[in-house]
Amino acid sequence: MNVLGIESTAHTLGIGIVSEEEILANQKQMFSPEKGGIHPRKAAEFHYQNAMNVLKNSLSEADLELDDIDAVAFSQGPGIPQCLDISAVMARKISGKYEIPLIGINHCLAHISIGTRTTNAENPTTLYVSGGNSQIIQYRNGRYRIVGETLDIALGNALDKLARKLGHPHPGGPEIENLAEQTKEIVEMSYPVKGMDFSFSGLVTEAQRKINKVDNEVIANSFQEHAYSAVIEALERAMSQENSQEALLTGGVAMNNRLREMINIMCEERGAKAFIPPKEYCMDNGVMIAHQGLLELKSGKETKLKNSDKRPNWRPDEIEATWI
Ligand code: AMP
Ligand code: MG
Repeated sequence: MNVLGIESTAHTLGIGIVSEEEILANQKQMFSPEKGGIHPRKAAEFHYQNAMNVLKNSLSEADLELDDIDAVAFSQGPGIPQCLDISAVMARKISGKYEIPLIGINHCLAHISIGTRTTNAENPTTLYVSGGNSQIIQYRNGRYRIVGETLDIALGNALDKLARKLGHPHPGGPEIENLAEQTKEIVEMSYPVKGMDFSFSGLVTEAQRKINKVDNEVIANSFQEHAYSAVIEALERAMSQENSQEALLTGGVAMNNRLREMINIMCEERGAKAFIPPKEYCMDNGVMIAHQGLLELKSGKETKLKNSDKRPNWRPDEIEATWI
């Protein structure tokens, strides 16, 4: 069975194709604003302009035609409403024309499932840190439960904001990482963790106030050390509470080398195992949507046309995880 997955929750228009045995294609185009953050209408326009090309490239990478596709999955939410429309419209059209099942996918759950597929983690506590979401998620009694999360903005969004204040373009995470790698010096900032929840907007303000007083490299390094320690501490608390032996790191911020190092150290110290997917499956991609579609389809799920509206605020714990 070949499943095509379309991702368009925010900056990336990604189209992937998977079968049970193999990842057959992973094509994407990423919207990079010249200035500022992600403008919803401009990002959606970018996805619309690139959609047919990404689709063509994906089919040619897999050496398949649309006729060979057995089901089509799309990112139904959460995400930027204008962007969500693009994958929904494409998927509905392909499903209707080729008379194949349509499956609306929760983007957060797709990040977890591609993480477990590519790392062979079995039942991890997941730290999902991206541009729009930051959550600690555990599977329990038929659902993925959010046991900790940001109380304000996502970690990736915080990095993007701080980078902009330091004069760097979007996405800011890699820029902050480059700056931070140039120093070992840290200045003290607040430590934004409350139980298994965390928050970053105060930390961004505090870091911003140090501009012109402290070197940018030191600001970046201090921000990373405080913010990453906070999420790793919350993750460890969640693992301890559940007696969990596995941690999974996913989302765009999971591409960060320092965060990868910290999760490895924490797991090593408590005799647990850290699972970190290859970088191309941490950032938003179509493969994760296709893979989640495959799992859900095999468990008997399908999305009726009348239920295929975008869900910009869809939380992962609203969904019965029939595929586990
Ligand atoms: P996603 O929404 O999952 O695609 O993740 C996008 C977010 O990941 C953006 O906020 C980026 O700034 C962030 N990001 C990408 N690469 C890195 C990196 N190397 N370090 C930290 N954050 C990163
Ligand atoms: Mg994401």
